[in-house]
Amino acid sequence: MVVEDDRHIADLVEMYLRREGFRVLQANTASAGLEAIEREKPRLAIVDIGLPGDMDGLEVCRTLRVNSGIPVLILTARDAEIDRVVGLELGADDYVTKPFSPRELVARVRAILRRTNPAGRSGRGRLSVGEIMIDIDRHEVRVKNEVVALTAREFDLLAYLAENEGLVLSRRQLLDGVWGAGWYGDDRTVDVHVRQLRKKLGTALPLVTVWGVGYRLG
Ligand code: CA
Repeated sequence: MVVEDDRHIADLVEMYLRREGFRVLQANTASAGLEAIEREKPRLAIVDIGLPGDMDGLEVCRTLRVNSGIPVLILTARDAEIDRVVGLELGADDYVTKPFSPRELVARVRAILRRTNPAGRSGRGRLSVGEIMIDIDRHEVRVKNEVVALTAREFDLLAYLAENEGLVLSRRQLLDGVWGAGWYGDDRTVDVHVRQLRKKLGTALPLVTVWGVGYRLG
């Protein structure tokens, strides 16, 4: 379900996702979106923060968190950091800033569905990236079948990168995704943990530093 008043953006989102085999519904106001979500029970809601009228996208997030467990991806303007922070604090699962690429949007949607869909996870509680096997349920990482000892945070970071394989993640996104949106530590925290992962996993870790942006796994 895409809740977005800008018809052009809503159509783009719909087109990108349809091409990947998703069924997409649109609502152009907050109240129409909430009604349609209750009626249609979609697997995911994509909610624009800037909705007209007395209810914006943040209000939609707040309402959804009270009434339902539906995963929420918020769309925010590039310069509106506060919306992103508040949205995540209100329980949104992730965000995409406009303008976004089709690839980024689809990858984020897939990542949320992987993380939040228990049916999809059963029997697929494992992620693999190159030679690294990540067992989510057992909190265990193996390289060539040898267990590698990671701290809980290192494990979460690795799993998060693996769930978003192929996507460039900024340090801020990693902090939000792994440490939680309420965590206001600085970017060096991420670098320190990345260094530990590189030390422990060596050349088995296909992690690329994207200068001035962040990190990409795979
Ligand atoms: Ca809008």
